[in-house]
Amino acid sequence: MPKASANLENLYRIFTVPEGPDSTLRAIDQAIADDVAGFLQTHIVAIERNLEEIEADFSSCTIPEEPTYVSDYTEFVKENLVAQSVHTSAPGFIGHMTSALPYFMLPMARLMTALNQNVVKVETSKAFTPMERQVLAMLHNLVFRKQEDFYSSWIHNSQHALGAFCSGGTIANVTALWVARNRLFAPRGDFRGIAQEGLFSALRNRGAEGVAVLVSERGHYSFGKAADLLGLGRDNLVKVRTDSANRIDMQQLREEHRRLMERNILPLALVGIAGTTETGNIDPLDAMADFAAEIGCHFHVDAAWGGPTLFSSRHRHLLAGIQRADSVTIDAHKQLYVPMGAGMVIFKDPTAMSAIEHHAAYILRHGSKDLGSHTLEGSRPGMSMLVHAGFSIIGRKGYEILIDMGIDKAKSFAAMIDRHPDFELTSVPELNILTYRYCPQPVQQALAIASQGVRDAINTILDQVSQLLQKHQREAGKTFVSRTRLPIARYGQELTVLRVVLANPLTTGDILEAILAEQCEIVQDAEIRSLLQQIEEIMGKY
Ligand SMILES: *Cc1c(COP(=O)(O)O)cnc(C)c1O
Repeated sequence: MPKASANLENLYRIFTVPEGPDSTLRAIDQAIADDVAGFLQTHIVAIERNLEEIEADFSSCTIPEEPTYVSDYTEFVKENLVAQSVHTSAPGFIGHMTSALPYFMLPMARLMTALNQNVVKVETSKAFTPMERQVLAMLHNLVFRKQEDFYSSWIHNSQHALGAFCSGGTIANVTALWVARNRLFAPRGDFRGIAQEGLFSALRNRGAEGVAVLVSERGHYSFGKAADLLGLGRDNLVKVRTDSANRIDMQQLREEHRRLMERNILPLALVGIAGTTETGNIDPLDAMADFAAEIGCHFHVDAAWGGPTLFSSRHRHLLAGIQRADSVTIDAHKQLYVPMGAGMVIFKDPTAMSAIEHHAAYILRHGSKDLGSHTLEGSRPGMSMLVHAGFSIIGRKGYEILIDMGIDKAKSFAAMIDRHPDFELTSVPELNILTYRYCPQPVQQALAIASQGVRDAINTILDQVSQLLQKHQREAGKTFVSRTRLPIARYGQELTVLRVVLANPLTTGDILEAILAEQCEIVQDAEIRSLLQQIEEIMGKY
């Protein structure tokens, strides 16, 4: 047993000899290997302490002077970290996009960590580099369906990359807009390109007042970050209004584009969404592709969530037009069931990424196959191994079942909500995401005929109900739904709604019933009851 004191012998030991069989860390390791679901079930306690209390365990600001035994530290991890974590893989945890993982991901991830390959360059990754390129080509093929000889000539081409593997959808979206920006302001004549001369010079060269990105108001917040980071400015992220089904309104899109033209602002990219984060809706991608072609701008599709729908023969048609995009984002840590963080962006044109190519003397040399020459990130883990494992072990048909099951489940949950007198569906699921709220039938009936003023008053109170309901349910720790604010067409106003994401294959109809039942119990709470009473009083007056 190594002594917890800082000396060279002990340091050598922690780099070489694992702890004995009686160590806490090894016991945890074994328990996870044997039955990860059981381990999480037993060791994550339902929320007992609030965040402020937990913060007290993490309040020292001094790096420990003296070493600690691994087992002592592991006890701390068990008690203070694991116990107070969120059980994201629980089948009743249906509020977010983070859900269960297939068991093999865990040992594979452990192997990946053991190998500790750095895919920024071939010199530290070897086989991981061609594997990552293969994964990108497979995904490219899923979306763009090019001929076989296209892939044989591009897959391992040292000059180019079919896409970039990154830490998630955010970096994937940033990368897509970065490429679009650099292609819009490519070198020409005396102008050496935006990458060299910067945005100011680029705009002067084109005689333009600014550049804008057009996306619907349901667009993910990563586009705001991208607009900031790429120097476009958040004001130039134009959020186009959506229709009652949360899809971009093409008429409004034309209108916004016309306004940009009037102000001499260049459209840099048009972004279509395949599976909005809040409601899972899909923009009219074909019509958007037509419009992007008409105005001559980059067409990006953010399919971070919905991309894997392409695996499903039954539902792939929902994404029609995606193959006409210039670039597509797909998150692997969402519906490819890979642990975080894994995202990808792929480009239809295999030479597109040259626009952001970067070289350095000691690595990423010209003509090398180093992946780092086409990525925003530098040192990166071999996460593509986990996507490769998913593709190989689950296969197209396996993913198809997962996708179909999630969509079917969302439809049946929507029907369950519709049938229930006290709940109101606020967005109909197109994929496996839906929103709803608690709203007793008499209130629904009153709202249908109320004046705008009365409606506003009632809905404001119902917003508080939704907020408290969601909070209480989260705090009870048995099940979880999330909440968001959405404009609801039928009321002509923005409402607080409960949001559900049905991606965990272990979530059953019974669990969904139980979630509604629990919510009906939570609204008996005194604070919520008094809010509902206020609504009754308003209804009584009119
Ligand atoms: C999740 C998501 C993103 C962002 O992805 P991260 O992996 O969280 O960075 C972007 N767009 C959409 C539509 C998403 O659902």
